[in-house]
Amino acid sequence: MKIENFPEDIQPYLIPDPVSDGGGRLIYRCLECGQEYGIEKLLYTCPECGQVLLIYDANFDRLKKIPGELWHRIFDYRKMLKISALKGIYLYHEFIGSIMPLDSIVYLGEGHTPIVEANSFLQKKAGIRFYFKNDGQNPSASFKDRGMASALSYINFLIKKGYLSDVLAICASTGDTSASAALYASYLKPHVKSAVLLPHKKVTPQQLSQPLGSGASVFEIPGVFDDCMKVVEALSEKYNVALLNSKNAWRILGQESYSYEIAQDFEYDMNDKVVILPIGNAGNITAVMSGFLKFYETGIIKTLPKIIGVQSKHANPVYRYYLEPDAEKRKFVPVTVKPSVAQAAMIGNPVSMPRVIHLVDIYNSMSDKQNVFFVEVSEQDIMDWELLANRNGHIACTHGGESLAALVSAYEKGIIEKNEVAIVDSTAHALKFSGFQEMYFANSFPAEFEISPNPDLINSPVFIRPKDLEKVPAPGKPLTGEDFKRFVERTSEEIANALNLKRV
Ligand SMILES: *Cc1c(COP(=O)(O)O)cnc(C)c1O
Ligand SMILES: [Zn+2]
Repeated sequence: MKIENFPEDIQPYLIPDPVSDGGGRLIYRCLECGQEYGIEKLLYTCPECGQVLLIYDANFDRLKKIPGELWHRIFDYRKMLKISALKGIYLYHEFIGSIMPLDSIVYLGEGHTPIVEANSFLQKKAGIRFYFKNDGQNPSASFKDRGMASALSYINFLIKKGYLSDVLAICASTGDTSASAALYASYLKPHVKSAVLLPHKKVTPQQLSQPLGSGASVFEIPGVFDDCMKVVEALSEKYNVALLNSKNAWRILGQESYSYEIAQDFEYDMNDKVVILPIGNAGNITAVMSGFLKFYETGIIKTLPKIIGVQSKHANPVYRYYLEPDAEKRKFVPVTVKPSVAQAAMIGNPVSMPRVIHLVDIYNSMSDKQNVFFVEVSEQDIMDWELLANRNGHIACTHGGESLAALVSAYEKGIIEKNEVAIVDSTAHALKFSGFQEMYFANSFPAEFEISPNPDLINSPVFIRPKDLEKVPAPGKPLTGEDFKRFVERTSEEIANALNLKRV
């Protein structure tokens, strides 16, 4: 819809203008020492104390002057505009990057992913009403695109301002960060080039093909993600590169859009809602808490939804940290990870742990009760729930299966009650992790996964080649005449037999 066709009172708010908006002022703030820094430079950690940073809007209070109900109308009407910069995560411009001129925004189709209610069969199995939010339906097939759209828009902004030129964007990855980083960087060619570091044989073939296809320099190194991360950190300290891991606080800002979309899709009513998401490097749960908090502080939502973070028993440092009920006694201990089908979350020493600790406190205290919970699930449950979900119309990845397994476990433990409604994060597309499905169907998981298939969930193709046929078609060698007729007849008969079909 064209701007002049919207109600007059809403028109001035529809197209965000960083200049006349009254002054969003973004700053980096250190979570440890409280130091603040301007955003003209790319910073990842505090130059004073080395701790991770978050980006705040120093003039955030101006957004509180707009009533929550008016914000609802702004976002709902803004969705009808046909301006591509505002079609993705920047629909929530004032909350995600209020300083960003629209012509710096990189939009590749990310965000506004479908929220799909589970069918009654699956809801009965889980015991509770729930939806999947399919973040695999982003351009590189994972939620990482939300953060990359923000980080690369910001880099684009710095380039346009003349603060940066010839950027080498670099990241360590469990597979999806590199796929996303390489995709967004390739759009900003030739000003931005990208290089990605992957743990050798610890990403799926699909995830490896993605940065290669986007033209990034791809390096495979021995070890696991945590080892890659150390190498990337060393590179970013010594050389002039732009780090695209979630240590980069711009990533977090973009990923907040996940919360904003949930709020908007439920008409901003977060009563009795539970959001469940997997934790790896903990950037996602950081962003989701931060997003809901911002909408709460501005009156856009009146309640903070319950948040449940899930980890596999094979990579569970965050879960272990919160096992200790007494906050004073908690101590973070990195873990050595074991193989996990939730491979993108196979991280023993999450970079965003200080952010999680900081935000969980705020989230619980703003909620006036414990409202963030952590659960762990087995590898077996992850696979079983993923496959069951996908047999009921979903496209969940292993991490989506992990979130669903967490829903069931949290409900059994009484963390979730019957009247609540869950939004379960499927962070990537099923196809990225189809190798694990194949291992399940072939019962070929190495012992350390501790997964044995449930026969009811196994599926495999059946080869049909009627024994009595002398000739069958082959590529480049089609059958003709009677031979072909017989082939079609006999093959369809065998399939009909296999399916127990009745004649019409
Ligand atoms: C990155 C990733 C995660 C983990 O998210 P963090 O922000 O690292 O906690 C989970 N699932 C998928 C598919 C991912 O790519
Ligand atoms: Zn500091």
